[in-house]
Amino acid sequence: MSEERKDCLMETYTLIITEKPDAAQRIAQALDYEGKPKMMEERGVPYFLALRDKSLVVAPALGHLYTVVHEVGGRNYYPVFSFTWAPRYLAERDAKQTRTWIEVISKLAKNANAFIDSCDYDIEGSLIGYCILKYACENKEDVARRMKFSTLTKSELEKAYEEPLPQLDFALIEAGKTRHEVDWLYGVNLSRALTLAANRWSGRYTTLSTGRVQGPTLKFLVGRERQIRCFVPTPYWSIRAEFEIEGSMYEAEFERKWIEKRAEADAILEECRGKNGEIKNVAVKKLQQMPPTPFDLGSLQTEAYGFFGYTPRRTGDIAERLYLEALISYPRTSSQKLPPVINYRAILQALGRETAYRDMASELLAKEELKPNEGKREDPAHPAIYPTGNLPERALSDPEKRVWDLVVRRFMAVFGEPAIRQSVRVCIGIDGHRFYLRGRQVLKEGWMRFYKPYIRTEEVLLPPIKEGETTPLEQLIREDKFTKPPPRYNPSSLLKKMEQSGIGTKATRADIIETLYNRGYITEERILATDLGFDVVEILRRFCPGVISVKLTRELEEKMERIQRNREKRESVLIEAVDQLKPMLEEFKKNEENIGQALSNAIRRAQMQERMIGNCPICDTGKLMILYSRKTRKRFLGCTNYFKGTCKTSFPLPQQGTVKPARKNCRACGWPLVNVRIRARRPWMLCFNPGCPLKGER
Ligand SMILES: [Zn+2]
Ligand SMILES: [Zn+2]
Repeated sequence: MSEERKDCLMETYTLIITEKPDAAQRIAQALDYEGKPKMMEERGVPYFLALRDKSLVVAPALGHLYTVVHEVGGRNYYPVFSFTWAPRYLAERDAKQTRTWIEVISKLAKNANAFIDSCDYDIEGSLIGYCILKYACENKEDVARRMKFSTLTKSELEKAYEEPLPQLDFALIEAGKTRHEVDWLYGVNLSRALTLAANRWSGRYTTLSTGRVQGPTLKFLVGRERQIRCFVPTPYWSIRAEFEIEGSMYEAEFERKWIEKRAEADAILEECRGKNGEIKNVAVKKLQQMPPTPFDLGSLQTEAYGFFGYTPRRTGDIAERLYLEALISYPRTSSQKLPPVINYRAILQALGRETAYRDMASELLAKEELKPNEGKREDPAHPAIYPTGNLPERALSDPEKRVWDLVVRRFMAVFGEPAIRQSVRVCIGIDGHRFYLRGRQVLKEGWMRFYKPYIRTEEVLLPPIKEGETTPLEQLIREDKFTKPPPRYNPSSLLKKMEQSGIGTKATRADIIETLYNRGYITEERILATDLGFDVVEILRRFCPGVISVKLTRELEEKMERIQRNREKRESVLIEAVDQLKPMLEEFKKNEENIGQALSNAIRRAQMQERMIGNCPICDTGKLMILYSRKTRKRFLGCTNYFKGTCKTSFPLPQQGTVKPARKNCRACGWPLVNVRIRARRPWMLCFNPGCPLKGER
């Protein structure tokens, strides 16, 4: 190490604020003239010393260090409309470490003579940087400059440092502030209203919550569940015919997919039986299919759910890691556009160093012009998600590898030629009835070549068939069917629904879904609203419907969007939010007793359900419940008929960890199973049947 490096803290320096420690290291590495910044640590807070045209100190935040808090007063009343910004450790119990963090940054700020905000360039990042510059660095928000970048690659970071924006992005900051303030106003008032109502009625303490976006989202799920529960399946019939053509069997569908009466279906079968088919017509259609558009966060999440089964939240986390390792561009974007400045050719050339992509990259590079098939959506802050061209510096985990591959292939596919598909529909007549035989085939792969593992195409090849030929009918099949209710949402389709309805933001939707799970309002991957979820929505619908109104939520969301573009003032949005909330809360207060009773009952029912394991296998009429012995305080399974004196069945339970109904039955003996979860161990299913043939195997 050279002499000058040692003393760089002696002189003045530029303080660069980043959003997270990983980003700080990347940025310091990119900016240091030797690529070897010095890592420092103070009271557990890491930061980096780098040398360039002058000394640089790169200090990370830990996500948000500041938050909205109630200005004065206790927790046990509502409405509350006065708030202020304060360090998170003052407001949240699990944010203690933010205190040292703020203190270390404040200290570093004292000797700095210039400030640069290099947090992620979006609403949250801009707000994080702003709060630190304003509060921790003592009003440096007006003198600080802003680095703007979409990837953490060396070249882009250097450019962002050399040509920073002269000041912070105040429109984004205003939008971020407003969003946090509005969410706080809703969250604190509604959650307090719910919790206080329930606690005053029952005298017991339970935390309930709902938020501005949580409520409407839960309403979608409850609505769908209600449709499913009310659904009455109607029977219908369909007919398929099997024909032999050139030695192979082909299945054709009857012209009507839906036959309402069984007798009618049988009559058709009767008329066709024993006759030959005649090829009436062969219709061939060619169809050009354009390449897919570049990934925005939503479409990446959808695709990763479809192919890998990852929840939107998980995909978001993986993409974030890939971004921090400079493998892909910033993932929290809603853009479907790739501007030429990212340099398509350079990225493809770099990707070509990876064997798996070599041929495809050179195929694209051979094209005279590279033009991505862009989508409509734009994002003022970032382009669509694309690979940087960097190859992994360490072995990626399987999920990381998959998501990276998906991003790389999607990027290449958007430059591909259109694919050409052919569909063939053969109409076969039997005694005046028509059957359709369908074929599908890709004639020209085009972009599909690049995206192949992520395309679901079933090819059905048909032999050459000419009009007028006859074909022997081998078999007729009548199928008895029932209409189906609409499908349950999964985390991915729910996210899409939120997107379409204009509620939440790309940064928050996945978290909101997670919160609904954590509150016990929903369960299972095919999302099932729990009774508690149902009750909460029902109570809100009856007593303060505004809280779950999709329309109100979307309108507020649109207003907040406009702040980003300087077309709306933060103050007016806040006033509107308070105007919306006030009457809701008044309504709520008036009905507090009713709401409290309804909520308390709902909570009690939910708690009871958590203890019901299933039917008692001994008496068959009682239910097995998790109970606690008065004498020993030990828990066990007992039959509810014990209280009637008709069944004394009981089974021991593990005393450690938590025990919940598994809602599944033992595959060997059919008894209900219990789910046991002990800290730091994998949860397992327990069959408590002492005579179970699988005993000892689990
Ligand atoms: Zn029993
Ligand atoms: Zn068993």
